[in-house]
Amino acid sequence: MTNGYKDRMQRKKVHIDARIQEANIDKGIIVLLTGNGKGKSSSALGMVCRALGYELQVAIVKFLKGTQATGEDAFLAKQENVRIISMNTGFTWDTQNQEFDKKMALETWQQAEQYLKDKAINLVVLDELTYMINYKYLDEQVILNTLNARPKNQHVVITGRAASEGLIKIADTVSKIADTKHAFRSNIRAQKGIDL
Ligand code: ATP
Ligand code: MG
Repeated sequence: MTNGYKDRMQRKKVHIDARIQEANIDKGIIVLLTGNGKGKSSSALGMVCRALGYELQVAIVKFLKGTQATGEDAFLAKQENVRIISMNTGFTWDTQNQEFDKKMALETWQQAEQYLKDKAINLVVLDELTYMINYKYLDEQVILNTLNARPKNQHVVITGRAASEGLIKIADTVSKIADTKHAFRSNIRAQKGIDL
C-alpha cells in the first residue's frame, strides 16, 4: 500500500518536474478574469500586491466606478509604485447619459493607452474593461491592436463580466468565475474588506 503510494507520487513528481522544465518562457501575459461570480477585481488587486512586493511599477485603470470609496483605493493611495485613474462617471445606470459615458470612456482609454505604451510600467490593470466593449463605448479592435503592440514584458489584467470573444482570444490566461452563491441575495449588504 505505502509503496504503491510512494511510486505514484514519484512518477507524478517526475512528470511535474519535466513540465516545469519545459515552461521556460518569460513574457508579458494577459490575464482575463470574467464570469458572473465575485472575485474578479479583487483577484486583480491580489496580483497588484504581488507586483508591488517585487517593487514593480503598476498602473490601474478603472472603467466603471461606483460612488462608494473602496478599501483598496485608500490602501493603494499610500503605495509608491502605483498610479490609478478612474472613469469618474459612476455606474452607467446612475448617469443614464450615453453620450457622456462614451466620452468619458474614451478619455479613460486614452490614459490606458499611455500606460500600454510605457515600458516602465510592468503591470496594467484594466478593471471592468469588458463593459466598454459590450456597451460599444470603445472599439474592440482598437483595444486589441493596442494590447498586441504593448511592451513585450508588460503584463495586463482585464476584468469584467461577459468578456468578448476577441478578449478571450488575445488573453493568455482566462478564468471564468462562476456565481454559485452570493451573500447579497441573502440581503447581506456589501461588507468592508470583502466587497469594497
Ligand atoms: P470583487 O470586486 O469583489 O472581486 P468582482 O469584480 O468579481 O467583485 P463586479 O461585478 O465588479 O465583481 O462587482 C463588484 C461588487 O459587486 C463587489 O462588491 C462584489 O461583491 C459584488 N458582486 C460581485 N458579484 C456579485 C454577484 N454575483 N451578486 C451580487 N453582487 C456581486
Ligand atoms: Mg469588478
